[in-house]
Amino acid sequence: MSELRKDIVNGRWVILASERSKRPDDFRPAQAAKEGAPSGFCPFCPGSESKTPPEVFAYRKPGTRRDRPGWRVRVVPNKFPALNRGLPPERQEDGIFQWMDGIGVHEVVIENPDHGKELCDLPLSQVQTTAPVPASRQYRRLS
Ligand SMILES: [Zn+2]
Repeated sequence: MSELRKDIVNGRWVILASERSKRPDDFRPAQAAKEGAPSGFCPFCPGSESKTPPEVFAYRKPGTRRDRPGWRVRVVPNKFPALNRGLPPERQEDGIFQWMDGIGVHEVVIENPDHGKELCDLPLSQVQTTAPVPASRQYRRLS
């Protein structure tokens, strides 16, 4: 189980999730990750929708089906979440330190169907579609 700890310097909550070290490809060379994965499998590319958890949100072309190609932006639960769903955690305190269980939602926003493009490389219309998606997911901020 991960843990949330409040940074006593800046007041922001930090996720400590040692179990995420079990994710595949965590130590892939940075250059290989930057060049994309055309030589291998990518669960986030169109046609691989069945390799991710079912989508929880998507902008898609009319007439296309959920968890199938035809999306412009897709949001799926993280297969290796840093946080786990559950009851709201109880905040604990000891002096200046605060912490709680790592309860929450961890989603992946797949910004576009073109694996090799960064957000800054996308046409303005795609950026206008993608940029508001994280805010639209209505994540609750910890204070
Ligand atoms: Zn991809």
